[in-house]
Amino acid sequence: MTRAFAPHPHTTSRLALSELAPGAMQSEIRAMTTECDRIGGINLAQGVCDTPVPAPVEEEAIAAIRAGHNIYTRLDGVTRLRNAIAAKQKKDYGLDYNPETEVLVASGATGGLHAAAMALLNPLDEVLLFEPFYGYHVATLKSMRVKPVFVPLAEPDWTLDVDALHAAITPRTRAILLNTPANPSGKIFSRAEIEAIAAVCRERDLFLFTDEIYEYYVYDGHRHISPATLQGMRERTIVMSGFSKTFSVTGWRLGYVTADAKWMAAMAYFHDLTYVCAPSAFQHGAAAGLEQLPPSFYTQLAADHESKRARILAALRDAGMEPSVPAGAYYVLARATRLPGKTAAERARHLLAATGVAAVAGSAFFRHGRGEDLLRFCFAKRDRELDEACARLRRL
Ligand code: PLP
Repeated sequence: MTRAFAPHPHTTSRLALSELAPGAMQSEIRAMTTECDRIGGINLAQGVCDTPVPAPVEEEAIAAIRAGHNIYTRLDGVTRLRNAIAAKQKKDYGLDYNPETEVLVASGATGGLHAAAMALLNPLDEVLLFEPFYGYHVATLKSMRVKPVFVPLAEPDWTLDVDALHAAITPRTRAILLNTPANPSGKIFSRAEIEAIAAVCRERDLFLFTDEIYEYYVYDGHRHISPATLQGMRERTIVMSGFSKTFSVTGWRLGYVTADAKWMAAMAYFHDLTYVCAPSAFQHGAAAGLEQLPPSFYTQLAADHESKRARILAALRDAGMEPSVPAGAYYVLARATRLPGKTAAERARHLLAATGVAAVAGSAFFRHGRGEDLLRFCFAKRDRELDEACARLRRL
């Protein structure tokens, strides 16, 4: 009893931050967005995806509010949406998930990862991530006192060094976290690379957390491979995805996890604890999207973004910032050494001041000291805004 009320060991007062808080910082992405809003610039920093919401999704969400779907839902989501997600996983990848026991509608893929990590990982466990990484993955793990261990991908194509992957494994490794197509590199892991990762998971008995939020953003004829489809992987793979990007509803906070029933009850419990449920009316909107949008919607989404990719790549080359060409997702990492500044953050601020275009410092996606010559540009913007941003970059 007395221990619980004793002052924190590192401070003299009980009015103190937690042990974790001093290491936590506002993400560089949000910081750039704030700065961009302040000067009224064009935000290519945050992956907000402000393209139009597909009509069935928008209309059904509004209808759902009017029909009274405004109260808590079942902790793992409404039946209609769980059925639609299970049907989508079957149709897209041939994966069988029972919508009653193996689908969790989550508050975004972000809420899904939080719930999965709470349910499956212990403090001091190690989780392997590929660098460059998505900052929320790292921060979410750290917030649970799980240790991220980085496996660097090799520039310029961000290829996987399988020996480095093996070398990063220790007796404390519990899982690998894979994001394909990846933010920020746009890398689509090849079948051979995913096979190698899956083989490590099987040999070392690890979970594989897969963030597949950009599954439909694939270019140059690539197809998304869902790692759970590989032999022996379904029972150990926690698939996370969502509607933020595909339906342009980042602010709705709606995503999902599909996984073996063995893990699902615990994940749903922790999701309930933090979020209670995903937004009720929006679940109906997303269900309508899955039910009604034809396959051409998804191919058109990829084609539209492939054209946006071409525009930003040309503008970056013209501006003297050599881009690394992304095979998927909707970000470009570009070399920004021609901009003044010692760090990527200084370079990003210079670019914003000079052109009114916000990008994110590459350092946000690497361990300390790396990524300082890179900037990340998001191209999921309406064409008019993207073209204006490209024109401004060319005037640099
Ligand atoms: N995962 C990745 C790799 C992302 O890039 C993002 C958003 O930028 C998210 C997850 C967020 O997904 P959600 O809005 O579903 O939480």
